[in-house]
Amino acid sequence: MSANAPLYEILALRYAHSADRTQASNLIFPDDHAAPMPLDYFIWLIRGEGRTIVLDTGFDQETATRRNRKLLRSPLDALRAVGVDPAKVDDVVLSHMHFDHAGNLGGFPNARFHLQDAEMQYCTGRCMCHEPLRRPFDVEHVMQAVQHVYTERMTFHSGTSELAPGITLHLVGGHSGGLQVMRVPTARGWVVLASDAAHFWYNIRRRSPFVLLHNLEKMLEGWVLCEKLADGPDHIIPGHDPEVTRRFPKHPLDRGAIMVDLPPIA
Ligand SMILES: [Zn+2]
Ligand SMILES: [Zn+2]
Repeated sequence: MSANAPLYEILALRYAHSADRTQASNLIFPDDHAAPMPLDYFIWLIRGEGRTIVLDTGFDQETATRRNRKLLRSPLDALRAVGVDPAKVDDVVLSHMHFDHAGNLGGFPNARFHLQDAEMQYCTGRCMCHEPLRRPFDVEHVMQAVQHVYTERMTFHSGTSELAPGITLHLVGGHSGGLQVMRVPTARGWVVLASDAAHFWYNIRRRSPFVLLHNLEKMLEGWVLCEKLADGPDHIIPGHDPEVTRRFPKHPLDRGAIMVDLPPIA
């Protein structure tokens, strides 16, 4: 990273929790079937250089009730808690279209959305004829994304592209047809927001894949890519790991806002 490179703040905003999960419910090859492995749910706020970018949009109470997840607060309220008006967000990146990442699109009335070509093809195509593959999608979210194509608010990406000075998007796939990760320059170096390319540090460090899978080879290659893009193992921020909340400092305005642009404290 050059001396005058742009630097950004990153907050992981925790909005939901799933307590009753074990390795057996999360991993294809569990080491200890009964070991507890709860999930947290986050969206991510990236601020700096005069820009406000949101990665993923979470789900709402209706989805939480239907899918038996514990919504702690609306992801939109999580943004407001750290001083962000969702109506003023310019860019919303969707890592992929799963229900816990692509709801609440109506809460961002002035945003431009960013999605990989491959993810839109996947969630509107032939694979969705199969129940196990479409299970993690909410068709309402998919239909809203399609509407934003027709209202010219959707920007498609194919592979690697630069979203803002220094910030890049990278196609991974693996977990979903066109999952993308985001690389952000911060004061502590290059941070990769992996979203569901790695639900937990356990997945990437133990090379142990999460149960929801489209292509195992691409998931494995995605871990290699994340490691290449990030400045170290603690610079890869997993998508659902409660350890994120435990290991990084909390924002003074909100204990559910985790400052992952700073070095870990545990
Ligand atoms: Zn997912
Ligand atoms: Zn997820």
